[in-house]
Amino acid sequence: MSNQLTIALTKGRILKETLPLLAAAGIEPLEDISTSRKLIFPTNHDNVRLVVLRGVDVTTYVQFGSADLGISGKDILMENGTDGLYEPVDLNIARCRLMTAGIKGQKLPEGRIKVATKYVNVAKRYYAAQGRQADLIKLYGGMELAPLMDLCDEIVDIVDTGNTLKANGLEPRDHIADISSRLIVNKASMKTKHQQIQAIVDAIQAAVQV
Ligand code: AMP
Repeated sequence: MSNQLTIALTKGRILKETLPLLAAAGIEPLEDISTSRKLIFPTNHDNVRLVVLRGVDVTTYVQFGSADLGISGKDILMENGTDGLYEPVDLNIARCRLMTAGIKGQKLPEGRIKVATKYVNVAKRYYAAQGRQADLIKLYGGMELAPLMDLCDEIVDIVDTGNTLKANGLEPRDHIADISSRLIVNKASMKTKHQQIQAIVDAIQAAVQV
C-alpha cells in the first residue's frame, strides 16, 4: 500500500496540543488516544494511521521511514540529529528553553567540569564552543538531583517556568536554545508521497498559531 501514511506522535503532555493541528489537516483519530492503551490508531482516512510513541523514538521511526511524518521536540532533533529528515514546520507548541543550571550561588570550578544531562551531544557541542572542558554524565531523568548529590557541577536541561529548578535550590544559567515542537518528514516519503504529504504540511502550517 504505497499511499498508506503513518504519522508518529509523542505521547504525554504535548498530545493534547498536537491533535487540533492534525484536525486542521482533516485528520482525526477514530478513538480517544489519550485514554487508550493502544499504540496504533486508525483515522477518518483509510490510508492514514497514527502511532503514539515516546518523543525520543518519534525521530527514529521517521528517520528509518517506518513513519512518514512525525511531531518531535527541537531538543530531541538537536540531540539525535536530523539525517534523513525534513523539518518543515515549527508548530510553536510545547515551548521551553534548553539551559545550563547549577546550585544557586555556587561558582563553577576552574578547569574541567562535570555536567549531567539527557542531552549529551548538545551539551558536548555547547561546552566545546564555550572553550570549556566538560565530562558528560548521561542521565535519563530527575536531572535536578544530580548537582545536589555532588554528581556534577552543572546540568543541561529543559526549563519552562523555572519552578522545578527553584524548588530544588538551583538557578538557571546560560541559555542554549529555544525549544518547540516541529513537524518532521522522512525525506524519501516526501519524494514518493509528495502530494499527500505536502497537503498535510500546508494545512498544518496554516493552522499554527504565531
Ligand atoms: P519548569 O518547572 O516549568 O521549568 O519545568 C521543568 C521540567 O518540566 C523539566 O524538568 C522538563 O523535564 C519538563 N518540561 C517543561 N517543559 C517541557 C517541554 N516543553 N517539553 C518537555 N519537557 C518539559
